[in-house]
Amino acid sequence: MPTYETTYCTYHPTAETNLRCNRCEELICSKCAVHMPTGYRCKDCIKDQKKTFNTAEWYDYIIGLVATGLLSLLASGIISAISFIAGFFMWFISIGIAGGAATLIGKIMHRLLRGRRSKNLFLASTAGIVLGALPVIIFFLLTGNYYSLIWQGIYLFVAVPAVFYNLSGFRL
Ligand SMILES: [Zn+2]
Ligand SMILES: [Zn+2]
Repeated sequence: MPTYETTYCTYHPTAETNLRCNRCEELICSKCAVHMPTGYRCKDCIKDQKKTFNTAEWYDYIIGLVATGLLSLLASGIISAISFIAGFFMWFISIGIAGGAATLIGKIMHRLLRGRRSKNLFLASTAGIVLGALPVIIFFLLTGNYYSLIWQGIYLFVAVPAVFYNLSGFRL
């Protein structure tokens, strides 16, 4: 009959256990173990894993907000300019331009951020899209050009989720 050496949890020296974290191999008791799809992990390893999902630096939030803001202002201005010459066809063109602009903004942001990521960074970048379109929206509101607001609405409706999903990698 094989003899088992009594082993204890690394974090709770009085808790008997033979369970090991499947990443760092530390002995962990049932209180420390977190059940993952791949097996049991200690809390430290879970924390480390969370950090890798949040690699954004403080300046990334400024890049995210300012860069998408400026790009969005540009896209929003271009859509307005085209709407004056496109007339009725703008109903079809606006969705195409908004989608194209969102894809382009997503590509530029990927370059600028070099793969650094965090949920708040994606939210800041998406907020930039709305902020960038605001000057154009306010301009049309002040000048009473409510018809032109439709294209801005379509632009935001398409671009906001598209840019968010483009950056975060989530797909609907
Ligand atoms: Zn571990
Ligand atoms: Zn423990």
